[in-house]
Amino acid sequence: MLTGIDVHNMLLVIATTFIEKEDELSMYDAVIGDGDHGVTMARGAKAAIEKLKKMEEGSCRDYFKVYGRTLVSTLGGAMGPLFGCIFLELSKACKGKKTVGLMEIAVGFRNAEIKVMDLGGAKVGDKTMIDAIHPTVEAFQEALDNKLSLERAFDNAVLAADAGVQSTIPMKAKRGRSKFLQDKSIGHQDAGATSFYYLIKTMNDYIHGLKSR
Ligand code: ADP
Ligand code: MG
Repeated sequence: MLTGIDVHNMLLVIATTFIEKEDELSMYDAVIGDGDHGVTMARGAKAAIEKLKKMEEGSCRDYFKVYGRTLVSTLGGAMGPLFGCIFLELSKACKGKKTVGLMEIAVGFRNAEIKVMDLGGAKVGDKTMIDAIHPTVEAFQEALDNKLSLERAFDNAVLAADAGVQSTIPMKAKRGRSKFLQDKSIGHQDAGATSFYYLIKTMNDYIHGLKSR
């Protein structure tokens, strides 16, 4: 279970990850896009850190909402709403809850997948972040069905997200800027899917760190 303070601190760690991964994420986008994905994610992360640090004591819902809204309002293009809505759906799933457990995580990511599909129109196999989100949502649902702990659920989710990223390598892009490359997009992993993997990986590391505290 994560308290409001845990969510606040976890979001700061997530933002730090995106700042650290700026060059790597832009590199993936440079091969099959316009090379700005890492810059965009890092810019959103820096703005979110500013907002989170200024916040008075809040709930799990408030903190996820601030991260999501900051991405939507500070990032131009498609990435603000597409990646921001993941945090906004996690926020909604925490409504009225003092702590975040596997139920809120599973529901939040499930609704995030639906929202990203609604907003961007991408499906599994189009070589977007949906290819990492979809298997992750399935892993959380399976963990919920089998009553796994939050830690074990995240262990499985990291493996699923990683496999999702790897699955984008042989795909031909059908969305975003990469679609113009047609067959040239084959053989490279998708940048947005990689960002989603780092989100799940960082959450997992943070949650395991809490346990050993
Ligand atoms: P831009 O394409 O505006 O330069 P970014 O470089 O920040 O934005 O993000 C590129 C990533 O966005 C891609 O790697 C892909 O994962 C994701 N993406 C692009 N279009 C869509 C879409 N329609 N639905 C979901 N994700 C998308
Ligand atoms: Mg780009």
